[in-house]
Amino acid sequence: MFYRTNVMDQAIGVIGLGNMGSNMAATLVRKGFSVCGFDLSSDARGMASERGIECVDDITKLTAKCSILILSLPKAEHVEAVCLGAQGLIHFLPANAIVIDTTTSVPETSRRVGEKLAENDIAFLDAPVSGGPAGAAAGTMAMVIGGDEKIYQSVLPILEAMSRVRVHVGDIGAGNIAKIANNMLAAAHLVTTAEALTLAEKAGVDPEKVLQAINAGSGRSAASEAMFPTWVMNKAYDSGFTMGLMRKDIGLAKDLAQELDLNLPMTLQTEKLWQASSSVISDDKDFCCIAQYTNADLFG
Ligand code: NAD
Repeated sequence: MFYRTNVMDQAIGVIGLGNMGSNMAATLVRKGFSVCGFDLSSDARGMASERGIECVDDITKLTAKCSILILSLPKAEHVEAVCLGAQGLIHFLPANAIVIDTTTSVPETSRRVGEKLAENDIAFLDAPVSGGPAGAAAGTMAMVIGGDEKIYQSVLPILEAMSRVRVHVGDIGAGNIAKIANNMLAAAHLVTTAEALTLAEKAGVDPEKVLQAINAGSGRSAASEAMFPTWVMNKAYDSGFTMGLMRKDIGLAKDLAQELDLNLPMTLQTEKLWQASSSVISDDKDFCCIAQYTNADLFG
């Protein structure tokens, strides 16, 4: 399989123009790339168009002009449908095209999709991201990438435009394994931080002060340093990442642990808690609302 050298001259197709995809597309436009977007939702296409992203209403119009595709879809099943389904990329992309999937997805799906696309000489990278819509808009995301090293190097200018840090972690599927491990920790840290602040408050100490203390101490994490100050303590709950997507991610961690026959009790307990919270916190709410499941009075 070949690899490209002049990606700056290639039109890039972005499929999925939601919270992440629309911001990634806008960043690439701002940095001088030629970008074309597609989303099933006409609302999403409309909002992207308003931000200066050229959009098409049919995936074949995208594949007619773009042979580098970035996917930002909710789940693995959407990736499979977009790549291999009846109207899938596999039927329309030319040989030597490259698909960069930034969806947080199932590693096994990444491998299966990658193998199928490779039969038509189409390359695939799984490249899930961290940093939320703000990081996507600023081009400061962290990306963990699985796939062929030469393909990774060939699209590096695009990945560099989108991210501050990139870690090429291994073959196809490895990116999603790294991302699932990361999000398992984020899901757990949100809960343990809410519990720590609850403990302090019930013991009569100001939780804001305790959060400051934790962030100067060894208990700190991205949950305590960024998520609680930005989205929880001020009750903003507007991160742009939903409960539903985080429930998916912690579910992926549980599934992977079970597939590998591992005894990871904290992972299982975290997954149980996130699933149980759906009785009071719906999938469309901000993911930081999980703090309210620990203490609705303090964080509600
Ligand atoms: P989102 O729901 O806001 O956007 C997904 C978009 O995909 C929607 O606009 C939807 O209409 C579109 N879509 C669904 N099926 C499609 C199809 N077949 N063809 C074309 N478009 C289709 O989700 P998001 O928050 O942007 O997240 C996207 C991915 O990134 C998810 O896997 C998520 O877990 C991951 N992620 C999100 C964040 C975040 O903070 N939002 C951070 C890191 C990773």
